[in-house]
Amino acid sequence: MTEEREVNSASFYEFIAEKKLMASRCSKCQALYLPPHPICIKCHGNEMEWVEMKGKGKLAAFTAVAVGQSRTIEEGYSRDNPYLVGIIELDEGPKVSGRILGIDAKKPENIEVGTPLTIEFMEQGEGRNCFVAFKAH
Ligand SMILES: [Zn+2]
Repeated sequence: MTEEREVNSASFYEFIAEKKLMASRCSKCQALYLPPHPICIKCHGNEMEWVEMKGKGKLAAFTAVAVGQSRTIEEGYSRDNPYLVGIIELDEGPKVSGRILGIDAKKPENIEVGTPLTIEFMEQGEGRNCFVAFKAH
């Protein structure tokens, strides 16, 4: 039962590995938290439940990254081949940050805030580290 998992970041990443984007919801005031938070900032309630996000949203902000971490260099990104990271506002309300796919990072002038995005779970390396990206269509 997913709902019985403790509300903490370890469970959050377990869910990501299972290709689920989960937020925590305060059972008192219904506030949503992503990344999940064990205590409600609004009403200080500590009864949180897991809710799965549909993984759809729109681009709220973005940055092109020309020099990144070693793992992105291994993927072939560089100063001449930047990649995009952004803030995605989910349909459910919470904002998350992640890699943006399907948009040309070399032409930032063509990128529009508000572009609809869908979640994409990416795996990499032998350790199967899973992370979240969002793709434009
Ligand atoms: Zn609350």
